[in-house]
Amino acid sequence: MTDHIQDRRSELRADIDRINLQMLDLLTQRARIVQEIDKLHQTMNQDFYDPQREAQMLTALEMANKGPFSNETIKALFREIFRASLAMTEQAGRAKILVHRKSVDQRTVITLPDGKTKIGDGGFQLIAGPCAVESYEQMDEAAAALASRGVKIMRGMAYKPRTSPYEFQGLGEAGLKIARQVADKYGMFITSEIMDQSQISMFLDYADIFWVGARNMQNSFLLKALGKIDRPVILKRGLAATLEEFLYSAEYIVSSGNPNVILIERGIRTFEKWTRNTLDIGGVAVLKLESHLPVVVDISHSAGRRDIAKPLARVAKASGADGLMVEVHPNPPVALSDAKQQLDFNEFYALMDEITDPEKTS
Ligand code: PEP
Ligand code: MN
Repeated sequence: MTDHIQDRRSELRADIDRINLQMLDLLTQRARIVQEIDKLHQTMNQDFYDPQREAQMLTALEMANKGPFSNETIKALFREIFRASLAMTEQAGRAKILVHRKSVDQRTVITLPDGKTKIGDGGFQLIAGPCAVESYEQMDEAAAALASRGVKIMRGMAYKPRTSPYEFQGLGEAGLKIARQVADKYGMFITSEIMDQSQISMFLDYADIFWVGARNMQNSFLLKALGKIDRPVILKRGLAATLEEFLYSAEYIVSSGNPNVILIERGIRTFEKWTRNTLDIGGVAVLKLESHLPVVVDISHSAGRRDIAKPLARVAKASGADGLMVEVHPNPPVALSDAKQQLDFNEFYALMDEITDPEKTS
């Protein structure tokens, strides 16, 4: 290369460097304006993304383009800039969501009134008990079996949101009373499903942890009301809810003032028929990554069958979840609800052996 050509190339390269910096400056200016527009949208409670506006900008660029880049190339380049702007504002929006994890070590630890029973502290907590409270004897037998293996949190469901109105709907307040009595007898805590905000004051007399079932996950009025109480809330994922919708539901409770929320993955609806639902274990891992709230895996409703309880429990533990929810009944074949999935006591003991001593597999 002659000296003249080399000099000219250096000049042109210096021009490109200068233009790169000018473009960077223009991109920065553009990004700041996007941020300002985003703020305006927020004060108006509006979404940022406006596809019509994007189409208008692309048409204007196409009209102004004199080459040498083709219109397609110019549109592709600007679409990339639009995408980056959208990602920037979405990122800013997520940072404001309370249930999102802000740092790797951020975690919500729920401590129950004994000061010792915790969920989310890095241990693996058990929530177990019959699907529904059916009688004092049934709850007493179940509680004795659970307590013998150290379970501290018992299900005491008195209101059952059944698919058919002709199926057992639960014992109502009488069931809550039984659950409370039995829990006190064995030194356990009771969690029970609340159906409606009108029940809150009654539930305060009986439940240590309020429970929102899958069918109520998007009952925002109930969620907001539970944000005002001073008891932990278990929130189940809706039957066909995305993880984003699930976290927004938790956000309703937390943003209304109650930080003590536990998430439960209970399986989602898919085309699969051999399990009642499909346990979304990838979802559990994502929730643990995205949120600081404890995550528990319901191995009963996600499977709908008792014969895969052990492998599901192993998977739940390995996924990094904070605990397990399992239905246990003194005599599952005669249970008034979910007879096919509840474990009998021997199956429950075997499950406990499995998760406390992983070497002992069968
Ligand atoms: C339950 O756990 O009692 C229950 C009814 O499950 P889901 O709300 O997940 O269907
Ligand atoms: Mn059930």
